[in-house]
Amino acid sequence: MANDTNKLRFQRTVPVVAIRDSVVFPHTDSILSFGRAKSIDAVNAAFQDDKIIAIFNQKDPNVTDPTPEDLYEIGTIATVTQMMSTDDEIHAMIKGQARVRLDEVLAEEPYFIAKVSELSETDIKTDEVTALSNQLYDIFKRAVNLGKGVEITTVMKILSGNIEPIELVDSVSSLLDVKSAEKQKILEILSVKDRFKRVIELMGHEVNVLDLEKTISMKTQKKLEDQMKKAMLREKKRVIEEELEGGDEDSDLSELKEYKKKIKAAKMPKETESKALKELKRLEQMSANNPESGYVRNYLDWLVEMPWSNSSPNNVSVKKAGKILDEEHFAIDKTKERILEYLSVMKMKEKAKKAEDSQPTILCFVGPPGVGKTSIGKSIAKALGRKFVRVSLGGIRDEAEIRGHRRTYVGAMPGRIIQGMKNAGTNNPVFMLDEIDKLGMDYRGDPSSALLEILDPEQNKEFSDHYLEVPFDLSKVIFIATGNVTDTIPGPLLDRMEVIRFAGYTTDEKFEIGDKFLWPKVLKLHGIDDRKIKIEKRALKEIIESYTREAGVRNLERNLATICRKVAREIAEKGKYPKVITLKDVVKFLGPRKFSSQIAEKKDDVGIVTGLSVTTFGGEILFIEVSLMPGTGKLILTGQLGSVMKESVKAAYTWTRSHWRQLGLPENFARDMDIHVHVPEGAIPKDGPSAGVSMTTALVSALTHIPVRKDVAMTGEITLRGRVLEIGGLKEKVIAAHRAGIKTIIAPKDNEKDMVDVPQSVKDDVKFYFVDHYEEIPPIALKGWKSIKQKETVTPTVATV
Ligand code: ADP
Repeated sequence: MANDTNKLRFQRTVPVVAIRDSVVFPHTDSILSFGRAKSIDAVNAAFQDDKIIAIFNQKDPNVTDPTPEDLYEIGTIATVTQMMSTDDEIHAMIKGQARVRLDEVLAEEPYFIAKVSELSETDIKTDEVTALSNQLYDIFKRAVNLGKGVEITTVMKILSGNIEPIELVDSVSSLLDVKSAEKQKILEILSVKDRFKRVIELMGHEVNVLDLEKTISMKTQKKLEDQMKKAMLREKKRVIEEELEGGDEDSDLSELKEYKKKIKAAKMPKETESKALKELKRLEQMSANNPESGYVRNYLDWLVEMPWSNSSPNNVSVKKAGKILDEEHFAIDKTKERILEYLSVMKMKEKAKKAEDSQPTILCFVGPPGVGKTSIGKSIAKALGRKFVRVSLGGIRDEAEIRGHRRTYVGAMPGRIIQGMKNAGTNNPVFMLDEIDKLGMDYRGDPSSALLEILDPEQNKEFSDHYLEVPFDLSKVIFIATGNVTDTIPGPLLDRMEVIRFAGYTTDEKFEIGDKFLWPKVLKLHGIDDRKIKIEKRALKEIIESYTREAGVRNLERNLATICRKVAREIAEKGKYPKVITLKDVVKFLGPRKFSSQIAEKKDDVGIVTGLSVTTFGGEILFIEVSLMPGTGKLILTGQLGSVMKESVKAAYTWTRSHWRQLGLPENFARDMDIHVHVPEGAIPKDGPSAGVSMTTALVSALTHIPVRKDVAMTGEITLRGRVLEIGGLKEKVIAAHRAGIKTIIAPKDNEKDMVDVPQSVKDDVKFYFVDHYEEIPPIALKGWKSIKQKETVTPTVATV
């Protein structure tokens, strides 16, 4: 509101015009258009008279026929310098002169006539005003530079520097980008200094906004330019490529069509198909020279070649399966029986159409190499009429080998499971996961967790491979895992599987397998089956006993293959077909014997005992040696013994020391000697508690100087009090001992139950003793041992080397 202290300069009576939404400032020129009859009349009257008119802003722009109360009290007196009328409007050039107050309205019709009085302004020419004026000048200039939309003549007038501060402030006020109410307020500030301050403030704000707009617009502009540039370059590239490729377009098109056909033919799940089509679209949009197109093609090839819906027919005939298993495998009757049970359950489930748990238990074949794990797997596939695939997991440390690499990797490929499925070509093969006991694990993720998912019927319906990106259904697959031992199979995996053990073959079984299966097989493999060549019994036995030492028959097969190769060469060179392979031929073709009987050459010796163990190669015999020497009561252990085995030695030692009286030894027999326990074949780490009784026997023999019978082998854990505890793998150990020529086996009483698994031929050859307590062992194992409670005291003899 106007400051009442300001004195009035003069009063005059003039036509008044009301305007909406704008303010006319003194010292400014503006063109206004008038449409309302009252306004047109007022402007006309003024123009025809002395051209003076007072202009007042309406408080509410929406009022069409304002009364004097609707006008602001302060307005501008102005001159109408020019006028032009169109149909129902007039346009007038108005030059603002001074601020006036509306004192009294004398007439309202035909237009307002009122008494107005000019308001005098304060602080017009002070130093502060000069300084403020410079400031506003700079700010305004900056606004114009930043793109403030002002007519050029106005800019030139303002920036010419030839205008008074009071003109500057009013001119800039009229150009402010603010609402008219705000402008009205500025109009009403009579102190020039204060008006400057307010205008500077508002203009400053405007400059900031303009500045911001400019940065934003520069950024968008740049982005737009970049995009346009790229689009142009892309287009250019496309044209160039089209020019270069010329006629290749047809072949591209046919390739795309071919893919489309293949995608349809693959009968993928819906989502997978749409993924494939999406990739195809990508390929379509790529130029053939784009290196990425190769990756997309590769990916599409994988997608279309996966057996999404290709299955082998599901016809389980247990009878047929039994026949196949028998035809292809000798012995291992228990294993075959178990497999037939397994197939029967599968058939029953299928009959019951229990889709939700139609996936059978996962079998895990455990046993040394060459015992027929793989070949049983193949027979199962054959019996079921399904495909057979095999993937080795040995040494896999990286989860990506199982689950694949993401497509962003260079040279990415699906993992071994998906590769196996593609090789199978059907979605329900028998899938063998070999060497599951040799899975590794490191920082690249735990492959066993991926396997867990694969073997879990809940999860494997949607197995996700990183490369494939789409889920693949593994629920129809029959997985069979294989391994040499169970100790190194990760617990959760082992939990999920049913272990079937393959213990290894006796010499007789090997003979039968060699004779009936391996020999005909290798002959056929070498293309010499048309004329039957026989192998002498003695010759085959010699190969088994003197050229191989194994639980399985792999080396036997290899040796037979070697003979076949040599025979083939002789046939080729000399055209001579041998009728039969004799013992002499074996030496000729295979060279001198590789192994001799481990036992035969030994003699009954002091301090050396035959123990039994199970390794990844199956059951084995091992020798435990004890030597005594002058010393200070030390116990020396060598031969790569594991911690459990070391403890076993200590327990054995304690038992012997605490039974010095029964053993007929002096009380402090250990004081002046060192005892060295050694288990030869130091390169192979050995562990487990089952050597306890053999250790004790070796000690007792060494201390009492009574030799151990060479054809006795023993196994069993020993407690400090001499109890003999149950051990694992009896069958494997017994078969190995039998193979090695052992005639007597001492084992824990609790293991007697395992004898059902031992082949009859072994039972017939070997004498078994099952013991509860260690005291029962020396009479069996030590040659000439009368009674453990000996009368005379023996002085341990210390070896002098
Ligand atoms: P693994 O998988 O246990 O290492 P394989 O299945 O590869 O052993 O067997 C090695 C060879 O021995 C194969 O040629 C297999 O046919 C043969 N074989 C193993 N066990 C028997 C058996 N009981 N009867 C006939 N052949 C056998």
